[in-house]
Amino acid sequence: MTSGSRKRSLQENLKYRRISIKAQNKKAQVFILKERCKGCAICVEVCQAEVLELSEEKNIHGYLIPLVIHPEACLNCGLCEMFCPDFAIWAAIETEEVGL
Ligand code: SF4
Ligand code: SF4
Repeated sequence: MTSGSRKRSLQENLKYRRISIKAQNKKAQVFILKERCKGCAICVEVCQAEVLELSEEKNIHGYLIPLVIHPEACLNCGLCEMFCPDFAIWAAIETEEVGL
């Protein structure tokens, strides 16, 4: 690798890093599909930011579902989605709506 191409590759790396840091700073939103939830509370346990709490609310199957109590604290780490056995919860970065 020449020094010119090494410098270019370093600059590209930094550019992508900045984009990824910027994305991390955006607010994340937590979504729960209540009817899929089995109330196991794994998501509550794995959430390091204490965003979730098991509520008193039951879904149509009679399971207690988690509640998003501190949405502003979500780190968008993806752990709740990764560990949920029922694919019932996930977080995503809020995006601006684009008019068509
Ligand atoms: S994405 Fe991470 S911080 Fe956000 S609710 Fe899930 S486990 Fe908690
Ligand atoms: S891990 Fe999934 S199934 Fe278990 S309580 Fe959380 S959302 Fe419901």
